[in-house]
Amino acid sequence: MSSESQLRADIVEVGRRMYARGYTASNDGNISVRLGSDRLLMTPKSVCKGFMTPDMMCITDLEGRKLQGDRDPSSEMLMHLEVYRQRPDVQAVVHAHPPIATGFAVAGIPLDRAVLAEVLTTLGSIPIAEYATPSTKELPEAVRKYIKAHDGMLLANHGALTSGADLYSAYYKMETIEHFAKISLVARLLGRENLLAREEVDRLQGLRGTYGIKSPAPICADPSEALAVLDSGNPAMCQVVQAPAGDGQRLVPDLIRDRTPSLASTSPASYGARPPQPAEAADEIRLTYRELSALIEDAIRQLR
Ligand SMILES: [Zn+2]
Repeated sequence: MSSESQLRADIVEVGRRMYARGYTASNDGNISVRLGSDRLLMTPKSVCKGFMTPDMMCITDLEGRKLQGDRDPSSEMLMHLEVYRQRPDVQAVVHAHPPIATGFAVAGIPLDRAVLAEVLTTLGSIPIAEYATPSTKELPEAVRKYIKAHDGMLLANHGALTSGADLYSAYYKMETIEHFAKISLVARLLGRENLLAREEVDRLQGLRGTYGIKSPAPICADPSEALAVLDSGNPAMCQVVQAPAGDGQRLVPDLIRDRTPSLASTSPASYGARPPQPAEAADEIRLTYRELSALIEDAIRQLR
């Protein structure tokens, strides 16, 4: 167990890194860590996480009562308390608004596709906790649904939350989420997203023990059953990961393109009625009359 002074310095350092990387703006975000069995060390309300000093931190009990500190504890304290209540194994909690991951949270797109081996071995999938007004009791309720099965999640139209066996482990998971979101965004902009096959995902899960990575929950054997459990208001006890059967292939190609009906397979009657599909726009090249003329002139010139 690190000393209190070391933990204060570590919170300052993690806050500085979050701010430097643009995961928080102004006074956004909050960080907490367990201090022994019955107390928490937490960032204070209304300070920029990039410019904190060790003496600014608050000490609270596990009910959120302030025991020490000149300032009041974070406005998101209730969310932190809920994570510690549900997860006795968790030693630290980090909350931030990293822009790409938060973009996915705003778009309502969870980061749950089996795409990167590194993410599958560390975090598994990253769901989206339902929208809740920040700093109210709604937010811990939304987080409660996923925290037993996940070390990291997006918060709808808000940001991201991570937890870990120590402060740096919780912070690195925030880095992993933002990095994963960035890569997913680029792949989707490029119009292709090949997925790891289910068999490969199982293999990666098996490797966790080799690297000493603990997962809060296994991958759901039946994702549709797991989603039904969530819909009925119960907390997730396994992780939903989108990983199709590979039939001997380790990568399953082109999810986005395969999902969109091609022009050839669409009957003329339904084609007109169908709203435009984004992937089709990527397949189409539009030229002005002038550009087309220039292309034809150029082709003729090449023939001469
Ligand atoms: Zn926030």
